[in-house]
Amino acid sequence: MLDLKNLYRPKSAEEAVRTLLETEGTGLYVAGGTIVVPTGSPSLDYLVDLTGVGLDYIKIEDTPDGRALAIGAMTRIADLATSPELASPALRAIIEAAEELGTHTTRNRATVGGNVFAAHFPSDLPPAFLVLGASIRLQGADGPRDVSLEDFYARGSDVYRRGDLIVEIRVPAGHERFASAFEKTGRTRVDVAIVSCAAALAVSGGTIETARVALNGISAVPYVAADAEAYLTGKSPTEDVFREGGRLASASVSPRGDHRASADYRRKVAGVMAARALSRAASAA
Ligand SMILES: Cc1cc2nc3c(=O)[nH]c(=O)nc-3n(C[C@H](O)[C@H](O)[C@H](O)COP(=O)(O)OP(=O)(O)OC[C@H]3O[C@@H](n4cnc5c(N)ncnc54)[C@H](O)[C@@H]3O)c2cc1C
Repeated sequence: MLDLKNLYRPKSAEEAVRTLLETEGTGLYVAGGTIVVPTGSPSLDYLVDLTGVGLDYIKIEDTPDGRALAIGAMTRIADLATSPELASPALRAIIEAAEELGTHTTRNRATVGGNVFAAHFPSDLPPAFLVLGASIRLQGADGPRDVSLEDFYARGSDVYRRGDLIVEIRVPAGHERFASAFEKTGRTRVDVAIVSCAAALAVSGGTIETARVALNGISAVPYVAADAEAYLTGKSPTEDVFREGGRLASASVSPRGDHRASADYRRKVAGVMAARALSRAASAA
């Protein structure tokens, strides 16, 4: 249970980072609070509330390479599902992940930044963002910088420093050539995932030009199934090919076992989820 000494309410991302880095004691950012509040430890001295930092937006930006998508870290999960900016086959995995996340109450409070940061929970959005080649914009003590989401999960403290604030999730230009889909299995409709999986495909002239597959719930961090991606590239988009892609995705993971599911069950389900996500992405392509 929380037993806070202070709650700070900065008005900008820069002020939030300064507050976290310069305040004595143990502190955390709090966004929607759906994880911090129920699991916060009494040894936490203060929270830095991100509500007033102005990061609640979804916008399409024109860049030299084409149209990119920028989602502010404080955007509520519920707002993803109804956003006109996300209404395309390419971004479908984001909407499906948002729709499957928890209950209405959770979706109305939980934020995109909190979901991406707390990926070990395990979160639903990371696989969807990973297959779209997303990056995150981090505000640090020295200013903002962009880090690929794949690096953020794979390289941890090599790329993330204490006090860094996720300000934005960016889906790069060129995403329009993909169609994507998201699959999840859990103990109940509203529980966190045993396994979640997103797939994105770019298909041209009856051939898969580019395939992307990412999983979460399997191990400590979200995972890109590179072996499956390499196998799928250049193949015809058939159900047999997707089943083999799923098999390779599940063969390349080292699943954890816990009270939700055994490691063996997770591995088997990962293959099925991946094949299904690939098949649905192909139908939308
Ligand atoms: C009943 C229930 C059901 C749930 N079901 C699901 C589910 O099905 N799928 C799922 O994915 N999740 C689920 N969750 C987990 C949670 O709601 C989501 O992961 C949510 O998106 C977290 O966002 P938040 O804004 O509430 O994070 P918070 O609780 O505010 O923060 C979580 C962590 O992220 C850090 N943080 C937050 N924002 C930032 C930022 N911008 N930059 C850096 N660090 C930051 C905080 O310091 C903290 O460590 C569930 C939670 C509950 C309580």
